[in-house]
Amino acid sequence: MNSLELVTRLRTFLPPEAVLHEKEDLRPYECDGLSAYRQTPMIVALPQTEDEVAQILRICHASKIPVVARGAGTGLSGGALPHAEGVLLSLAKLKRILELDPVARTARVQPGVRNLAISEAAANYGLYYAPDPSSQIACSIGGNVAENSGGVHCLKYGLTVHNILELRVLTIEGELLEIGGGGLDAAGYDLLALMTGSEGMLGIVTEVTVKLTPRPEKAQVVLAAFDDIRKAGDAVANVIAAGIIPAGMEMMDKITTRAVEEYIHAGYNLEAAAILLCESDGATEEVTEEIQRVNEIMKQSGAIEIRTSRDEAERLRFWAGRKAAFPAAGRVSPDYYCMDGTIPRKNLAKVLSGIEALSAEYGLRCMNVFHAGDGNLHPLILYDANRPGELELTEEFGAKILQMCIQAGGTITGEHGVGIEKINQMCSQFKTGELEMFHAVKAAFDPDGLLNPGKAVPTLRRCAEHGAMHVHRGEEKFPELPRF
Ligand SMILES: Cc1cc2nc3c(=O)[nH]c(=O)nc-3n(C[C@H](O)[C@H](O)[C@H](O)COP(=O)(O)OP(=O)(O)OC[C@H]3O[C@@H](n4cnc5c(N)ncnc54)[C@H](O)[C@@H]3O)c2cc1C
Repeated sequence: MNSLELVTRLRTFLPPEAVLHEKEDLRPYECDGLSAYRQTPMIVALPQTEDEVAQILRICHASKIPVVARGAGTGLSGGALPHAEGVLLSLAKLKRILELDPVARTARVQPGVRNLAISEAAANYGLYYAPDPSSQIACSIGGNVAENSGGVHCLKYGLTVHNILELRVLTIEGELLEIGGGGLDAAGYDLLALMTGSEGMLGIVTEVTVKLTPRPEKAQVVLAAFDDIRKAGDAVANVIAAGIIPAGMEMMDKITTRAVEEYIHAGYNLEAAAILLCESDGATEEVTEEIQRVNEIMKQSGAIEIRTSRDEAERLRFWAGRKAAFPAAGRVSPDYYCMDGTIPRKNLAKVLSGIEALSAEYGLRCMNVFHAGDGNLHPLILYDANRPGELELTEEFGAKILQMCIQAGGTITGEHGVGIEKINQMCSQFKTGELEMFHAVKAAFDPDGLLNPGKAVPTLRRCAEHGAMHVHRGEEKFPELPRF
């Protein structure tokens, strides 16, 4: 079926404005948040109901047309990058909150609902949806499920996978799967976990039942400044070792705090090599006691300045800088490339030193802002796409950071997914047998490989051509990188 035939077919049940095929209409969909990679899709479809999604899938399946799902397009790994001969399936119009049950503390929502909109709707009942990606004002819950997204508060409250109960998913054949349930455990394989983080490659999420969490009585944050990034790394380990699970524990290095301060005026110490934000939430007495302990640990870990938020306005101001770190990068550099590796916390200082060395080697600045409590790094490599060769250099720098994360006993993604961006690094992270298992899972759901082809799981041929070797965790195969 050619594109015009497909347009005609789709318009038998979708209004004309819900089937886009003119070049200028397709342009807004040619990339996600990873704008370095672009591709115009053949067609964009904007269904409004689950039934319409099912019909689109049936047509594409019958004609072997690739389908790429898209939520809000804020993904940072190119997961929603379109396929040139495929349909970009936008779920943005499925944006209704179907049910909110304050007694069961659950909400049943369509996939295009914004993450923050769930908390806004639940606020009247003193509840909220805990996973809070920094993009929560825009990103969709469907995208969150597909990426297993995290956020500042996931250290204490868990990732998306820990905060959802049920999914309605359409297979590429347009058949409905109802996955999960209200109980703590269920018979059979854990398909809810399998589907979470599957990056639009196994099915299309058409409904999500999320858990809602009671709003804490009180939240307070400690802002600690350090003259040495290693001391800040040790402070993170010391807080966890003391048996404290903060509501959030985030770190920013000097270049980040400077970029952010110029933009947001959060009151950060500009001389510090690193600053840590450590939040406590819960009952008032509990928070007061925990904040006191965190203060002591920061002091013992060598903090040069410690401040505790005195009221809600100050707490939000301390966080505002952290939340604006990505846009702040956009103000100090024409382009930035956000990496997303995770490492065991004990290796934070070593990996950060390694990134510093690579930054000097490549002559590219790198801002480090990250979920320190989870060991989830977000190095933002600053570059200029208009300078010939600089994007390629940036990609190489980024690839080395990810290899370093694997060597440090970590992984190439913490929350942004693999998409197209980290597909070659998958060859380093996993052995052939493991990749074969991923392909077998994919084939069980989508034997023709029509859902989001070319993303997340590399073919064995690609790995062979890429020449990547499997790097065992903790093994030293890159002598130029720091030793672990
Ligand atoms: C400034 C900024 C800050 C960010 N901060 C964070 C952060 O703190 N934590 C974090 O985890 N991420 C963060 N992100 C990344 C991004 O916001 C998340 O990955 C988010 O979950 C993507 O949601 P989306 O709706 O934009 O999905 P999209 O980008 O549209 O799609 C992402 C992936 O999900 C698939 N998909 C989308 N909807 C569906 C569906 N209904 N069914 C099946 N597959 C689907 C797509 O095919 C694609 O593979 C940030 C991004 C930006 C730009």
